[in-house]
Amino acid sequence: AKSAGGNRFELADPEADARAITRHGLTTALPAALDRGEFFIEYQPLVHLGDGSVRGAEALVRWLHPQHGVLGPDQFIPLAEHTGLIVPLGRWVLEQSVRQARAWQERHSDAGPLRINVNLSPCQLTHPGLVQDTVDILEREGLDADALCLEVTESALIGADDDLLKPLRRLAEMGVDIALDDFGTGYSNLANLRRLPVSILKLDRSFTQSMQQFPADPVDLKIVEGIVSLAHSLDLAVTVEGVETGAQAEQLRILGCDTAQGWYYARPGPPERLHELALVDATG
Ligand code: C2E
Ligand code: CA
Ligand code: CA
Ligand code: CA
Repeated sequence: AKSAGGNRFELADPEADARAITRHGLTTALPAALDRGEFFIEYQPLVHLGDGSVRGAEALVRWLHPQHGVLGPDQFIPLAEHTGLIVPLGRWVLEQSVRQARAWQERHSDAGPLRINVNLSPCQLTHPGLVQDTVDILEREGLDADALCLEVTESALIGADDDLLKPLRRLAEMGVDIALDDFGTGYSNLANLRRLPVSILKLDRSFTQSMQQFPADPVDLKIVEGIVSLAHSLDLAVTVEGVETGAQAEQLRILGCDTAQGWYYARPGPPERLHELALVDATG
């Protein structure tokens, strides 16, 4: 970025330029990547804090780029949102994940129903096909709506009007759980929770990080305790993300959190990994 003008406009930033070029390249490659099957999904177990059993998994999308190798969602989801590819990509993720959940259920009927959590981008929320696509996929793959949880970030729902909430309400009525993702980062009005069709709060990783020392900072403890008791009084379950140590898991369990997810239990991995974890779990 330079101009013929004064000095301060001539400061080229080669790194920023390189990033812009990469971003442009990735953006133009996105649609073909979906056609070529370059995306894949890793699954990270969701564990019941009370008894340690695997209850399901969150689907996390990755892109195996022919030149750049494996790219994480933070590197391409914003681009997919910007170009609109997020709608077909999101539909693909939902379809794959629902099919996978069905396969788990067939192999682990004794392990209790394994649930699948899928992230929804705000762009998918405003897309008119969301409810019908979801109904179609569940029906085609033969999965109960009860086994599906859609995760929507708190920031996507801040100040949401009824038009935005309507599709989520319809899905919730069908039995799909809606989780409020990254909760605690969006400064939403807690009283507002009552009007949202959510049944799960996913407490942001920053809270888990504050539980690193044992005992944790008393103020942090109070905040989490308050969120959990408010959530439970509204009949919402609490999931915590980013649990990396046993000490964190123990603190969060004592504070009343219901479900946990994080490297302490397992990193995101291929679907077979969940088979193994659920199996070990079911047989003791
Ligand atoms: P998220 O929904 O908050 O997902 C949790 C992120 O935390 C994942 O990063 C996961 O790999 C990471 N994580 C899990 N356990 C730990 C832990 O113990 N410690 C630490 N430090 N990190 C942990 P990932 O896979 O890079 O995904 C990043 C974000 O991309 C997700 O954040 C989600 O917002 C978005 N995303 C992923 N898949 C999809 C998708 O299919 N559709 C949409 N719209 N967004 C997606
Ligand atoms: Ca999520
Ligand atoms: Ca349900
Ligand atoms: Ca998060």
